[in-house]
Amino acid sequence: MPDPILELRGVTKTFGGLTAVDDVSFAVTRGEVFGVAGPNGSGKSTLFNCITGIPFGPTGGEIHFDGTRIDGRRPHAIFRAGLSRTFQKDAEFPDLTARETAALGGHYGGGLRGAELRDAAEEALDLVEFDVVRRDMRTADVSVYGKKQLMIASALASKPSVLMLDEPASGLTRPEIAALDRLLLQVNRTGVTILIIEHVLGLLLSVSQRLLVLNQGSVLTEGDPQEVIRDPRVVEAYLGG
Ligand code: ADP
Ligand code: MG
Repeated sequence: MPDPILELRGVTKTFGGLTAVDDVSFAVTRGEVFGVAGPNGSGKSTLFNCITGIPFGPTGGEIHFDGTRIDGRRPHAIFRAGLSRTFQKDAEFPDLTARETAALGGHYGGGLRGAELRDAAEEALDLVEFDVVRRDMRTADVSVYGKKQLMIASALASKPSVLMLDEPASGLTRPEIAALDRLLLQVNRTGVTILIIEHVLGLLLSVSQRLLVLNQGSVLTEGDPQEVIRDPRVVEAYLGG
């Protein structure tokens, strides 16, 4: 019997007359990597926004996380409960050091301070294999891949049970994507459930145990990733635009 850590029931998000997320239901099993795909504008990022409440929760439906209902709760409360995310556009704090950037998530999401916060940030930097000698660099001077590592480290420093990533491979080279692939599996092995939106199909298929496809805000299909991408309706949704 699967043990759902996150469950959406009929989640809907409207912006004026536009239904960006339309009656979406699915459950994420504790410990898995759950992929979310779909053409541009299909509602993937809005779905993540609904779950995390950043900036707003859904306009309809229910979201249950680890046994409690979280839709309608404030973003900060959802973060503290153990749902951590990264954004499609990397939030950057150029003047913070790498260590400080990694600590942000531990402070805001984990409620950590002092030595506990420093340890959590250090541990997260170790987990994403961020070079020890670069940890006092300004974030602005860190490489593109290094910034990805920092973004993920910051999300992990809050010690989340669920990590949500919105297109983490954007802007990365092929070898960097391969490194990210390995990194995500490493994070998952520590027990963190992962939800990932990703345009780089190779990465998405490599890391995901299950895949959900959105089209025009609705769930088109969900299941075994290899089967899902062969579904003629999925092919049509991508090609048909
Ligand atoms: P995806 O991440 O799959 O590319 P999005 O979730 O960003 O798609 O967008 C889904 C739809 O919702 C698009 O039509 C987009 O224009 C619209 N949308 C997203 N955010 C807003 C917003 N804040 N206000 C109005 N429309 C929005
Ligand atoms: Mg998006």
